Amino acid sequence: MVQAMITCPKTGKAVSTGITFGSLAAFDQTMLVNNTVRCPACGESHLVDNSAVKAFPNEM
Ligand SMILES: [Zn+2]
Repeated sequence: MVQAMITCPKTGKAVSTGITFGSLAAFDQTMLVNNTVRCPACGESHLVDNSAVKAFPNEM
């Protein structure tokens, strides 16, 4: 499982977008457009796109 994370521009913290992928390959092939996430760090909504998002593989 790969978790898509962004860095909150207000707090600089890594926050989960709640978006997950089955593999890194699936993550690489996905275009994220017009996704926003309610940020648990600052409470605002942030845009989630391919330049902002980072993949965090989770070997659970
Ligand atoms: Zn934030």
